[in-house]
Amino acid sequence: MHWPWLLTATLLLSAGASAQLSDATKQLARDIFRELIQINTTDSMGDNTAAARAVEKRLLTAGFAREDVKVLVPEGRPTKGNLVVRLHGAEESQLKPILLLGHLDVVEAKREDWTTNPFEFVEKGGYFYGRGTEDMKDFDAVMITTFLRFKQEGYTPSRDLILALTSDEEGGTANGVDWLLKNHRALVDAAFVLNGDAGGVTTDNGKAIDVGVAATEKLYADFQLTVTNPGGHSSRPTPDNAIYRLAEALGRLADSPFPFELNPITRVYFGKIAAHESPRNAADMKAILLNPPHAEAIRRISSDPRYNSLLHTTCVATRLNAGHANNALPQTAQAVVNCRILPGHSPEEIRQSLVKKLADPKVTVGYVDGATNTVLDHAPDKPGLAPSAPTPEVLKPLEQVADSLWPGAGIVPDMETGASDSKYTMAAGMPSFGVGEIAIERNDHRLHGKDERIRVDSFYQAVDFFDRYLRALTSVH
Ligand SMILES: [Zn+2]
Repeated sequence: MHWPWLLTATLLLSAGASAQLSDATKQLARDIFRELIQINTTDSMGDNTAAARAVEKRLLTAGFAREDVKVLVPEGRPTKGNLVVRLHGAEESQLKPILLLGHLDVVEAKREDWTTNPFEFVEKGGYFYGRGTEDMKDFDAVMITTFLRFKQEGYTPSRDLILALTSDEEGGTANGVDWLLKNHRALVDAAFVLNGDAGGVTTDNGKAIDVGVAATEKLYADFQLTVTNPGGHSSRPTPDNAIYRLAEALGRLADSPFPFELNPITRVYFGKIAAHESPRNAADMKAILLNPPHAEAIRRISSDPRYNSLLHTTCVATRLNAGHANNALPQTAQAVVNCRILPGHSPEEIRQSLVKKLADPKVTVGYVDGATNTVLDHAPDKPGLAPSAPTPEVLKPLEQVADSLWPGAGIVPDMETGASDSKYTMAAGMPSFGVGEIAIERNDHRLHGKDERIRVDSFYQAVDFFDRYLRALTSVH
């Protein structure tokens, strides 16, 4: 008879944190989340401005002053609007603001690929489904909810809090963060940036095992491979077929991974997460930290795509385009190779490595300049910024609050292996940290994929977490 009682008590205690949210707050957060998911914000057909306007309306209705809420739309790009809102801090404050960053745009999603309509907000089996539920309308909805709650309560933070919800993080040629920094710097200028697009809480069977803070990022680069050939009639094949040459070169690339490399952040990361791994993995993780590292351990750890991406620069073929007719020899074969480059290496260095790995002078390697969508012979020479550790100002309150919600998980500094908009804010001199602390099961990441989803309880827990974290960050001492 004692066991069930004990169990219930424990469950109640552990659920206590999110149980503090009122039904009204949950409803508000859910309504905002639903509204954002149902506004298509893809680059192709979506309208980021519509999402920004929906948020603007809520903020104005809640009493934010007109001059503190801005929807900023680049000239000639009517669907690429960005929202910036400021919650004023104490008047006497000498502290520079904190910028909270989220993107409103989402990756393309095809109805036929999905079980549900990706632009319909569906609650099913304890999950919210829809494009952007993980990346990253969840965080956007949580932030908007938090700003509305602060306003409603009349909470005055110790310094200004700025929230920017932006366009074209996932691609497109109107990146909102880049544009805001160039055109409206004063509106988004801050002491540091907390970006919800990186970091995150990892759970294993529902139990939190780490609270990640992204403290450095890989650099993103696309390369275009091209083979050309005079072509001809397909009834008379020649040995220098452009498609075969390209395919063979890509095969060599696949067989030639970039070298193993650790930095101060990934060193700490593997040291910390080893505690939650199987004995085999844990031993391997310790072995890769040795000097010299253990080669077999590197090979085994790298067989997990997630860890592989932390230990190596990766380059992978993501698109192919070749030929012009079924009955003609191809005159052109092209592939896009997408690279995620470790900090400290430049895109041009990687371009030259690609040329060596592809090992065919007939295959040219150009750099795809995302801003202008042109292909250049030479890639940028500037390497990704060297990692900087999170400051105690960011970490201490995070530790406190994380500890009460996810006891024992511990803060783990991490490297973002995708690239987020932090690359722009970091380049603008604002230290930027990924704090997307929304709990996701370690093997259930579906961002950019089909049937993207997030656990319902994780979402509400994040509403609770960010309310507490932002208060802890900005309480007047
Ligand atoms: Zn994202």
